[in-house]
Amino acid sequence: MSDSANKSKDTEGNNERAGTRDPDGIIVDGVGIKKIYQQGTVDVPALRGLDIEIREGEFAVLAGSSGSGKTTLLNLIGALDQPTEGSLVVDGKDLSRLSGKELAEMRLRRLGFVFQAYNLVPVLTAYENAEYVLLLQGVAADERKRRVTELLDAVGLSGLSHRRPSELSGGQQQRVAVARAIAAEPALVLADEPTANLDSRTATDLIAMMHLLNQERGVTFLFSSHDQKVIDKAARVIRLEDGRIVDDEQRDQ
Ligand code: ADP
Ligand code: MG
Repeated sequence: MSDSANKSKDTEGNNERAGTRDPDGIIVDGVGIKKIYQQGTVDVPALRGLDIEIREGEFAVLAGSSGSGKTTLLNLIGALDQPTEGSLVVDGKDLSRLSGKELAEMRLRRLGFVFQAYNLVPVLTAYENAEYVLLLQGVAADERKRRVTELLDAVGLSGLSHRRPSELSGGQQQRVAVARAIAAEPALVLADEPTANLDSRTATDLIAMMHLLNQERGVTFLFSSHDQKVIDKAARVIRLEDGRIVDDEQRDQ
């Protein structure tokens, strides 16, 4: 495995909340992961036994063609689904040992999600969408305002904070989704094909913006893509084929 953790940054804000952070900075530790979907009487093997380790501060992509297992793996790491076999430790916690309530807490407080369809709440403004998770977390009003204002600025949307999703372009909506995902200062942001609905230029701009958040704030990203231009922007490329990891390459940035 790589030693990319060495470039991880000080994220003291996370430590006090987590309490369980792995001292080695390992955020995801998956061993022997298999996922078999049941479709009627047919077994569909989506992941065929893979090991994956993601460290604090990484900017990693799951690359692979459609059907290779990217979404399945992100869903497992995101505690949205359970593996059929294997062990998965996320943010220092063995997911198989957590109750439904604890899994929900993990998703709310420790993980950020960006999906390919933007999943913004249509009746809320950009500002309100970004603020949403902080409201759920019970963060105080002045602190919410400080963080959301600063984040919308960081993703290049400060002038558009009062627009609703329907009044924003696809790329702008996805920037709101990224702002929302990192507002809660999660240990890990999972993004499933975040550029899937964007044109090529907007896609690479979005990834560059995510990379800046990674470098300047130490936000750890694991995203998926089948677009080589997007894949080329990642610091680490984990390539999936037919439910297996066939390559894991660290790049010089
Ligand atoms: P990717 O995101 O790389 O396109 P997926 O993880 O969505 O790949 O899918 C991996 C494999 O699992 C594919 O063969 C897909 O058809 C199958 N699959 C995904 N989700 C389900 C499901 N809910 N039920 C049955 N098969 C599924
Ligand atoms: Mg997918």
